[in-house]
Amino acid sequence: MKAKVIIIGAGMSGISAGKQLSDAGITDLLILEATDRIGGRIRKTEFAGMNIEMGANWVEGVAHEGEARNDDVNPIWSIVNNELGLTTFCSNYDNIASNTYNEDGTGLYDEDFVKRTIDEANEVQKKGNKISERPRSDDISVMAMQRFFEHTPYGPTKPVDMVIDYYMNDYEFAEPPRVTSVQSTHPLPTFVKFGENVYFVADQRGYESVVHYIAGQYLETDGLGAIVDPRLMLNKAVQEITYSEDCVTVKTEDGWLYEAEYVMVSVSLGVLQSNLITFSPPLPEWKTFSLYQFDMAVYTKIFLKFPKRFWPVGSGTEFFLYASSRRGYYPIWQHLEKEYPGCSILLVTITDDESRRIEQQSDEQTKAEAMEVLRKMFPDRDVPDATDIFVPRWWSDKFFRGSFSNWPIGVDSYEYDQIGKPVGRVHFTGEHTSEHYNGYVHGAYLAGKHSADILIDHAKREK
Ligand code: FAD
Repeated sequence: MKAKVIIIGAGMSGISAGKQLSDAGITDLLILEATDRIGGRIRKTEFAGMNIEMGANWVEGVAHEGEARNDDVNPIWSIVNNELGLTTFCSNYDNIASNTYNEDGTGLYDEDFVKRTIDEANEVQKKGNKISERPRSDDISVMAMQRFFEHTPYGPTKPVDMVIDYYMNDYEFAEPPRVTSVQSTHPLPTFVKFGENVYFVADQRGYESVVHYIAGQYLETDGLGAIVDPRLMLNKAVQEITYSEDCVTVKTEDGWLYEAEYVMVSVSLGVLQSNLITFSPPLPEWKTFSLYQFDMAVYTKIFLKFPKRFWPVGSGTEFFLYASSRRGYYPIWQHLEKEYPGCSILLVTITDDESRRIEQQSDEQTKAEAMEVLRKMFPDRDVPDATDIFVPRWWSDKFFRGSFSNWPIGVDSYEYDQIGKPVGRVHFTGEHTSEHYNGYVHGAYLAGKHSADILIDHAKREK
């Protein structure tokens, strides 16, 4: 089969690239997607009788109400809020200080004590923003920044300090401060550009309806909105990409060959770092060097359903922390009572090594660990066993190999740019190529548009 452009992957960036190409008159497209659905890392799944988000959940970077933002509105927020009217809730973390639990079974920490820890950490972050004004060669890790301004040679070591540190860093970047680059994250371009609020999408249509909405603008749909366009081919896992000066041939696992003038590879950084797709000839060293230097982080959202609620609800209770002496051990909890009253579901977030550890053990084992933590947090309550648990496994999944990219220390903007650069007729997109917003849904969306523009220019030059 032949097309002018083959897009590999139908996540947010691939679908957004297809729309930009179509808008420019390039409609001779073929989208090859390995799984049986579009949306990639934006994915709803049924859990305990309702739909929950196993991947992206928040629109990050939304202005405070009434704050003038002119053109600087997060494009995903415009679709979620204005076009689709998805149900969302602004996440408020202001009460973390009064919701931090001890690991020794004595309940909550003193609010003022935790507040002081948060204030101190905020001060260090603010000072870190100054480092970003220095030349790029002065970049340091977040942990080095903490040593510098906080005089803590090993970083935070006490349970409360560690969980606050985790909440301020790992909860956003899914990697610890010793890995993350200060200059690329302090301040965070997403919040500077679009605003500091984050909105939790809690809509039974799913966050993925944003991807369907964009796809529906250029792919044929049936009366019910399902995509029936033959240019979208599902269950087509690409195995090999052969490129020359004249054309590109793509081979899928089922043995089919597809030929095109250009290919747009939108698979995750984790997939590119694995050997799932063979490039022939192999990608040049400048390309693989840049791909291997960047990080694919792992962020895991574990959902637990209970026969009854035993945690506090009401204003200021949604997010709560478990301050363990083991950093990153079931640290950040959220109840979904605001979004779905009476659902009795808790969401606990873990990342990095803990995510990889948990992906390799049984869900029963994970449930037992989580239950032990909950019983330590609520020693005076009757805490029944969870009836259901859902543990996504993004890292083990060969079509993702992680959840989102994180900018590590040691990668400068020149090296970062190489990740998104085309190699001959092979173009690249994906959240990991977004100029300022890697790791986010809006990053994937904007990257798709940007990479498509580069391809369109390439095609124009060859006319
Ligand atoms: P993907 O969505 O990975 O799309 C790539 C597509 O390529 C996939 O559909 C995949 O199946 C396909 N593919 C892979 N290999 C092949 C192959 N060999 N052949 C054909 N197809 C292939 N972002 C936010 O903004 N807010 C959040 O709250 C948030 N939370 C997150 C939580 C989790 C757990 C995860 C996993 C991600 C989260 N993100 C969040 C990040 C966000 O989901 C991603 O940045 C974005 O969806 C990535 O889109 P993409 O198109 O770049 O990649």
